[in-house]
Amino acid sequence: MAVVTLKKIVKYYDETLAVRGIDLEIADKEFLVLVGPSGCGKTTTLRMIAGLEDISDGEILIGDTVVNDVPPKDRNIAMVFQNYALYPHMSVHQNMSFGLKLKRVARSEIDRRVQEAARILDIEPLLDRKPKQLSGGQRQRVAMGRAIVRDPAVFLFDEPLSNLDAKLRVQMRTEIKKIHQKVRTTTVYVTHDQVEAMTLADRVVVMNHGVIEQVDTPQQLYHNPRTKFVAGFIGSPAMNMIPASLLDSGSGLKLDLGAGVQLQVPAERTAQYRPHVGKARLLLGLRPEHLTDTASLSQAGGVAEGQTFSPIIDVSEPMGMETLVYFQLQGITVCGKASPDVEAPSGKPMQLTAKLQNMHLIDDESGLVL
Ligand code: ATP
Repeated sequence: MAVVTLKKIVKYYDETLAVRGIDLEIADKEFLVLVGPSGCGKTTTLRMIAGLEDISDGEILIGDTVVNDVPPKDRNIAMVFQNYALYPHMSVHQNMSFGLKLKRVARSEIDRRVQEAARILDIEPLLDRKPKQLSGGQRQRVAMGRAIVRDPAVFLFDEPLSNLDAKLRVQMRTEIKKIHQKVRTTTVYVTHDQVEAMTLADRVVVMNHGVIEQVDTPQQLYHNPRTKFVAGFIGSPAMNMIPASLLDSGSGLKLDLGAGVQLQVPAERTAQYRPHVGKARLLLGLRPEHLTDTASLSQAGGVAEGQTFSPIIDVSEPMGMETLVYFQLQGITVCGKASPDVEAPSGKPMQLTAKLQNMHLIDDESGLVL
């Protein structure tokens, strides 16, 4: 068990600045997920913790030890890769015990650890099989078993589920979470999949262009994104971002969305937003579930004054639990979520309510949520 600390970590690949001085502290027993678009530097960060990449500047500590110059095998870490990297000619038992044999661990201890890991992973009946006799999900379990038997201070996962089909990914995601709840080893997990990040993590690190945009719990990231990038990256369908200007109407603030749509800003946000009245390049950030059909809301008594408008629906997508509705505003496609019980015919207006108590006001110039 260990805390992992990154201090001002920089990574250059020749001229390319891949990681730009990041600071991060991963708590003991924490499950931390690094997520971000391709090329944001997440794999490089993980590989620097593993010791598979040199760092150009900064310090990495595992526990109290600075490991900058410690080779990977001496860092007390275990890494699980996307391609599993199992030895094809060895049985599952041999694959799991190989690292321990190299370390000259006693045979009885090896057997005890392999049996214990096999029990945790539910692969006891597979110990004599070769990797080619296993399904993708079973191979993934063996790769994790190999990491667990080493009883490392830190697990490092590099997109471990990306070779599995969609259904198995979801199953294995739950498995990994359960396994972490059993073994509680400090874990750093890289993925480009925001759903995987949100469902697995104690805390998520959102990276972009080699910097950390935000480190937070999944709930905080979703409800209180601090930047435009995080607001747009987390959540599916993505948060709507509609060009807006703020007006002082005398009776509080209004958001002007163009095309004749003006919405009343909730009174509790007035003091916070008043300094931004008249500012150029503001965006209203509103998640689709906060833009919903007035008809079903009014049945529940949830319609606030001054927050409704009636766009012409371009396309509606019934999803079963809800219907996604799309319309244009200032040339931008906006998505709302309507009740599946209301009709949402294309080409017809539909009255929608913007739940502005959940709004985000974004400064498009600085990229910050205000
Ligand atoms: P992906 O999800 O596509 O793996 P990532 O977020 O993990 O992306 P990295 O692989 O860490 O991103 O890459 C960060 C940046 O460093 C990218 O611009 C990439 O092109 C560059 N890079 C990565 N590895 C090397 C390398 N060995 N040599 C040169 N540049 C590299």
